[in-house]
Amino acid sequence: MSQCLFCKIVRREVPASIVYEDDDLLAFNDINPQSPTHVLVVPKRHIATLNDLQPADDPLVGLMTRRAAALARERGLAESGFRTVFNTNRDAGQTVFHIHLHLLGGRALGWPPG
Ligand code: AMP
Ligand code: ZN
Repeated sequence: MSQCLFCKIVRREVPASIVYEDDDLLAFNDINPQSPTHVLVVPKRHIATLNDLQPADDPLVGLMTRRAAALARERGLAESGFRTVFNTNRDAGQTVFHIHLHLLGGRALGWPPG
């Protein structure tokens, strides 16, 4: 996936404000933050959308989810609260087709989303 923006960030071909990395995941600050904490947790391996997940990816999605919770806890958001979002395809406004879990927090977030 040579042209994928988030694959380029994983390969360090595009700069990002990286806040976490391990063998499977990278997390970095969103370039257009919607809340005081707005981190994107991405798998290093390219997966375009949630529609493309396979059963073998279940552990990877679990790692993404638990990493978002750990980052929230580190920032003191565990008790006050935070939101985690996967956008999928047009109606959800997905703009980067490499799955990413948005971690949003640090302010009261409205519901329902627009
Ligand atoms: P989505 O609309 O769910 O596909 O979210 C894509 C997110 O990627 C948006 O919140 C963008 O602000 C963010 N984004 C786009 N380009 C970059 C970049 N170079 N570094 C960090 N975040 C980015
Ligand atoms: Zn990619």
